[in-house]
Parts: sequence; structure tokens; C-alpha cells
Amino acid sequence: MAIVLEDAVLNALRTVQDPEKGQDVVSLGMISGLVVKDGNVGFSLEVSPERGHTAEPLRKAVEKAVFALDGVTSVTAVLTAHRSASTSSGHDRQQAASVKGAGLNDVAHIVAVASGKGGVGKSTTAANIALALQAEGARVGLLDADIYGPSMPRMMGVSGKPTTADGKILDPMIGHGVKLMSMGFLVDEETPMIWRGPMVMGAMQQMMKDVDWGSLDVLIVDMPPGTGDVQLTLAQTAPLAGAIIVSTPQDIALLDARKGLNMFRKVDVPVLGIIENMSYFQCPHCGERTEIFSHGGARDEATSLGIDFLGEIPLDIRIRQASDCGQPIIVTEPGSAYTGAYRDIASRILNRLNARSSGQRSAPKIVVQ
Ligand code: ADP
Repeated sequence: MAIVLEDAVLNALRTVQDPEKGQDVVSLGMISGLVVKDGNVGFSLEVSPERGHTAEPLRKAVEKAVFALDGVTSVTAVLTAHRSASTSSGHDRQQAASVKGAGLNDVAHIVAVASGKGGVGKSTTAANIALALQAEGARVGLLDADIYGPSMPRMMGVSGKPTTADGKILDPMIGHGVKLMSMGFLVDEETPMIWRGPMVMGAMQQMMKDVDWGSLDVLIVDMPPGTGDVQLTLAQTAPLAGAIIVSTPQDIALLDARKGLNMFRKVDVPVLGIIENMSYFQCPHCGERTEIFSHGGARDEATSLGIDFLGEIPLDIRIRQASDCGQPIIVTEPGSAYTGAYRDIASRILNRLNARSSGQRSAPKIVVQ
């Protein structure tokens, strides 16, 4: 069934001509990363970087042609303004270096926030850390690379579409003073995210180099949860200065966190440390402390793995409520102990980054394309 639909999709795409070249988009090799799943269709439409977002009408036309097919319930066509995404292996550090573009030229440190599995509070921590770094005086950007489930627009309380002055480079959105980019701004929320390697790569490369990040001290990258191929590829795509691993305290999450650590070691990205999230619960009524997911596991794990422990964040309903309504707790309760905990972690991160760039290990060089 899927195979048949795949053929039908390609046939439908063959009816769409690129007005600039006068040939159909399939023959021109502009379609890549085609995925068909239960009537949901996704693919990339590759155009030359010069055409950039002026190819939007063509993108709409290919979506429309495919959507008209029987059995198709949704279509996601993503413009990728770079060449040979479909042939890129994504596993070549050398090649990854070549994607560092103008958008990141003036970004001092790119830091990934990762977790071995979903639901440990990685995105919540990434958002609060970004804001805490800003509170510590840093100029901060936040790139939501959690392409399958982008949550930053909601957590940072930002909606709408990014603007572009020249039709090529996107202006980042701004949430509570932090520059922000997310697939959530580029693709409709209801659109199912069915991506494959090349599409993820294409989208990530665009969000890094085709965004006017400007001058930043730190760009926080909220990685997708897990340690599979996609994460590995992303870790190689972004010129990372370091990675932070978020874990809950219990053994099983820590096992996953260890996988995350190994993944970054594999691609030679230093792990700046572990954060223990949902570390303990303090009853707001009686003050009693309960260690719901046990406690201290991440600190012990960090010690035994020889990496830094960056700090612990309690499990608290106010942290959840604040990020659910787009006003992270650092914004709503700047004087609270939670904000203090995030800021302590942020200042540890800044110290480590500064120590690295002042000699211990130079930050990866940004190469202009
Ligand atoms: P992940 O990115 O790891 O999937 P999220 O950041 O989306 O996890 O968090 C999952 C849920 O847990 C969200 O509803 C979030 O608000 C909540 N959450 C995260 N950290 C905390 C915390 N320290 N206290 C209370 N709730 C939290």
C-alpha cells in the first residue's frame, strides 16, 4: 500500500514544473527524503540557496498536487535551500564543518541540552537555562532541535511566523529577550512530523545557518530526546562547544543518560555536566521533602563517570505550570529558590565555557561557507 502510494506521489510531483527551469521537480532531482506513512506524506524540496524562500509558491504547488491524491491525509513539503542534502552522509565531521554558515558566525558557544529519553524535563530545563544564562548577563539564543515535538514556542510563549528581510535569512523570534527558532514556527502544529535523516539534516542546517542569530555568547540547542542516529547526526551537524545531559535521579534514566554521554564522546563533543531534574519534592503545605524518583543518582553517576555535576532542580508544580503557559519560572518568579538553582547552574556553565575558550580546549572553529 505504502509503496503504491509512494509511486502515486512521485507521479503527482512529476506534473509540477519548476517555472524557473521549465522541467518537472522530480526530473530535476529536487525531491528528496520522501516518506509515506498511513496517508501522511513528507519530503524535501531542494532549491539552490540563491532562491531561498522565493520558492515558497513552488513548495505550495507540490503540496497541493500530492494532497489531491486519494488516500493522502496530510502533506509536508519542506524547502531546503542547500545542495545535495539527499546524498549527504551526515556522518562526516569534515562535511559537518562545511555547514557552519553566516548565521552562526558571531556565536561564541553552541551548547546542546540532551537526554537519554523523553519526559525527563529536557526542554523545560533548556528553556530555563537559556533564561538563566541571560539573567547572568549573557546574550542568548535558543534553537529547538526537538524536530519531532517542538515545544519551545509554547514554553517560551511565542507564536507566529518568523519574518525575513531579504527572502533568504530568517529573523529569529524573541521570547523573554532570548532569540528563538523552532520547527514549530515553520510548520503548522497539526502537521504530522514525519521526517527522515536528510530532512532532519536539511531543517537543522537551515535553522542554524539561514537564521540571523547575530552576536551571541551562547546558543542553547534543545536536542530531540534519545541517543539514536538522528541525535548523533545532529550532534555532528551543529558545531558544538559542549553538551549538557538532563536526567531524573533514578537508575533507569541514568542508564539512558550514560548512553547520551557516550554518544557525545563518540563525536568528540565535551560533556559540560549533568543536571538532575525532578530531584526531590518539597510539599508546599507541610514543607516535608519527598524523593519521588530517589535522589542524588545523577550526582553519583557524574562522579563515577568523571564529569561535572551542574546542579539539581526540584519537582514542583509551579515549574510545570509556568512553562505550560509560556512564562518559565525564571520569568514569573525571579526571586525564587528555583530561579536561584537555575542561575547557579547557568553560572557554572558559563565558567566552564570561559575556561574552555581561554585555553583548556579551544572552542570549535566556525568556518564561513
Ligand atoms: P522532555 O523535553 O524531556 O520530554 P519536558 O521538558 O517536555 O520533557 O517536560 C515533561 C513534563 O514535565 C512537562 O509537562 C514539564 O512541564 C514537566 N516538568 C519538567 N521539569 C519539571 C520540574 N522540575 N517540576 C515539575 N514539572 C516538570
